[in-house]
Amino acid sequence: MARRKKRRLNIKNIVLAVIFVIAVISAVIAIVLAVGNWGGSGETSSPSSESRQSSQSSSSSSSASSVVSDPDDSWQLILANPSNPVPEGFTVNLTDITGNYADIPALDNMKVDSRIVEPLEQMFKDARAAGQNLFLRASYRTVALQQTYYDWHINHYKGQGYSDEEAKEATLRYIAYPGTSEHHTGLAVDIISVDWQNSGQEIIDTFDQTAEAEWLKNNAHKYGFIMRYPKDKEAVTKIGYEPWHFRYVGKAHAAAIYNSGLCFEEYLDTLK
Ligand SMILES: [Zn+2]
Repeated sequence: MARRKKRRLNIKNIVLAVIFVIAVISAVIAIVLAVGNWGGSGETSSPSSESRQSSQSSSSSSSASSVVSDPDDSWQLILANPSNPVPEGFTVNLTDITGNYADIPALDNMKVDSRIVEPLEQMFKDARAAGQNLFLRASYRTVALQQTYYDWHINHYKGQGYSDEEAKEATLRYIAYPGTSEHHTGLAVDIISVDWQNSGQEIIDTFDQTAEAEWLKNNAHKYGFIMRYPKDKEAVTKIGYEPWHFRYVGKAHAAAIYNSGLCFEEYLDTLK
């Protein structure tokens, strides 16, 4: 009798334990499924570039108003122009592009600010997917290198019979005075097409007739780059029209500049 009662108790305990274990397992499964649905949605739903782009653009547009006052993005807005040389001793962390990024065909010794490598690479990739083969023709320049370009052009014009003053004026139309080039920032790139590069012709403003220039003009802002020296803004920028020169300012600023039609100097004035 006592033995049977004991056995019945044991069976009852086992049944209770089994129910308890089933309850715990069910709860764990429910939690795992719930977490899986939330956290995994980005990976399980089709990761098309379109959906990723829309989530990116929505996050950048939602921060567009706050990003202007975010002190962390001030590096994106550094101004280098004929009346604003880069600060003396200005330094920037550079990444070597040439030979290291298969998606970015580039001239020798191309370097950019490390923070813009990812958007630059994405822009080149997406351009190629759209049938446009871009070529990185210029990037970071030291003041010393700018000086050699400047001197070369001065001598070139003088060799054609220009006076000192005329040579300087002609040179400064496209070659910034050493210290005032935006290429010193590491945020500026000259981009042409692979075809243009292979043709060996110099870079002139008829580059804007190419499909690559058209693509850049319409899409660069999506990656945070602006056409820095537009045709109708020469009086403001004091630099000739350069459909190949793009400057990284971050996606939010680039979208604002693109949509407003302002040039960089004018845009900076609106932030004051
Ligand atoms: Zn340039």
